[in-house]
Amino acid sequence: MAENNIVKGWNLSNTYLSLPKIFYSNVTPAPVRAPNIALFNDSLADALGLNSDELNSEQGAAELCGNSLPPNSVPIAQAYAGHQFGYFTILGDGRAALLGEQTTPDGRVFDIQLKGSGKTPYSRGGDGKAALGPMLREYIVSEAMHALGIPTTRSLAVVTTGEPVFRDGILPGAVLTRVASSHIRVGTFEYAAYAATADELKTFADYTLARHYAGYEYFDNPYLYLLKETVSRQASLIAKWQSIGFIHGVMNTDNMAISGESIDYGPCAFMDEYNPDTVFSSIDIAGRYAYKNQPVAAKWNLGVFANTLIPILDEDESKASAIANDTVDEFDNLYHQNYMSIMRSKLGLFNQEKDDECLVFTLLDLMKKYVADYTNTFIALTFERNDNTDLFKSDEYKQWNIRWKERLNRQAETSIMSRTMMKNSNPAIIPRNHKVEEALSAAVDNKDYSQIKKFIDILANPYSHNASQSEYCALPQKSDVPYRTFCGT
Ligand code: AMP
Ligand code: MG
Repeated sequence: MAENNIVKGWNLSNTYLSLPKIFYSNVTPAPVRAPNIALFNDSLADALGLNSDELNSEQGAAELCGNSLPPNSVPIAQAYAGHQFGYFTILGDGRAALLGEQTTPDGRVFDIQLKGSGKTPYSRGGDGKAALGPMLREYIVSEAMHALGIPTTRSLAVVTTGEPVFRDGILPGAVLTRVASSHIRVGTFEYAAYAATADELKTFADYTLARHYAGYEYFDNPYLYLLKETVSRQASLIAKWQSIGFIHGVMNTDNMAISGESIDYGPCAFMDEYNPDTVFSSIDIAGRYAYKNQPVAAKWNLGVFANTLIPILDEDESKASAIANDTVDEFDNLYHQNYMSIMRSKLGLFNQEKDDECLVFTLLDLMKKYVADYTNTFIALTFERNDNTDLFKSDEYKQWNIRWKERLNRQAETSIMSRTMMKNSNPAIIPRNHKVEEALSAAVDNKDYSQIKKFIDILANPYSHNASQSEYCALPQKSDVPYRTFCGT
C-alpha cells in the first residue's frame, strides 16, 4: 500500500480496441533472450501510479520488453499512413506494440508503448527491432524536452534484450517504453481518410476528440474545433522548439501527434551555434526539415491533416475546403504570437512594443554573423556576462545592447523581475550533441551507465543555474566535419 491507500501498479485499459478493426492489429511482442533494465524513470513511474520498486526488477524487465504482459494488456500495433518527405505511404507501427492505456491516480490517461518489440503486420520488411543507442538517445532527449517545459512523449525505461540487431554492423538490441498522451498522428487521420468509410472516419475523429479535447461536445462543429485546436497546439509546440534551438529532423506527417506532443526522436538534435540553415539528419539532403523550415513543415502537415477532415467538416465540400484552408492559415499568426511571446521572455520583456521583432531578429542575425552559440548567448544576457566571443566584442552587438537596455528601461517592471523571468526562460543546459554522444558511447560501447545517468539528472533541471551544470555548457571542439544524425532504426 502506498500513501493515501492507493495501490500502485498497472491500471491498464484498451480503449483503442473500441475502434473499427482497420485501425489496429493484435500483436504479440517478440520474446527476448535476456532482458535487463538499463534505464528506469522513477519519477515518471510514480506520476503514472506505477510501483517503481516492483517494476524496476526482473519481473518488471520482463514486462518492459514484452516477455510477459502486464495485467489487462491487449497489445496492438496501430495502423497509420504518412507523408514522408512529401510522399504518401502506408505505414503503421512496424516495431512497436501498444500495451494499453494507463490511468493515473489523478485520472489522466497515457499510452504505454514498447518500441523495438518485434515484427508486426506493418513491418514492411523491417525486423521490428531497435538498437540500444537510438533508444537511449530517445530517452535522453525526450526527458530533456519534458524538463525544458516542452510537450513531449516520455520515456519510462530502456531494457536491453541481450540480443543483437543487424544494421550497418551488429548492435546491441533494446526496447524503449514510451509514454504518450496518445499515439494518434496526422498520419493516422491520413490512413482513416484513405482506408476508412466516412462513418469510420467520424468514429475515429470522435475518439480523438474524447481523448484530447475535453468539452468538444459543446461545439456546434466539433471537427472544426479538432482542427483549430490541433493547429493551435502545433503553433505553440513549434514556437517552443524554435526558441530552444531544437531540430526534430524528420517532421513527416506520421511523426506529428494530434495531442501536440513532440514525438519520434530519431535524427533530432539541438543547435549549438545559431544558424537557421542547420540540418543534422543525414537523410535530409534538401534541408526540408532544417531549423528555419520547421514552422513551414508544420503548417504543411496541418494542411494534410485538414484535408483528411473535409468529409466531416461540412456537408458542402467546397465550404469544408474553405473552412479547412482558413483554419490552417491561422497557423502563421498563432506561431508568430507564440514565438514572440517566448522570445520576449528570453529578453526579460514583459510588455509588447512594435519594434520587438526587430530587436529579436537583429540579435539573431548578429548571432549568425558572429557564429555565436544560441543557448550560451541567452545565458550571457541573463547574467549580464560579457563572454569573450566575437559577438560580444563587436560594435554591432554593443549598439544592440544599448537598444535592449533602453527597451528594458521603458517597462515598469524592475531589473530583478526581468532577471528572474530570463532565468526561467533561458535554459543553462540542453542535450548538446557532443555530450549526448559521449554518454551514449560510454553506455553502448563500455556498458558504463554512470555518465548517462548523471547527464539525465543534470538535464532534469535546465533552469536551476548552478555550478554542477558548467561542464555541460561547454561547446564542442571545433570540427571540420558537420555533426550528423541518423534515423536510428
Ligand atoms: P520512424 O522513422 O521511426 O518514424 O519510422 C517510420 C516507419 O518505419 C514506421 O512505420 C516504423 O514503424 C517503421 N520502422 C522503423 N524501423 C523499423 C524496423 N526496424 N522494423 C520495422 N519497421 C520499422
Ligand atoms: Mg515515426
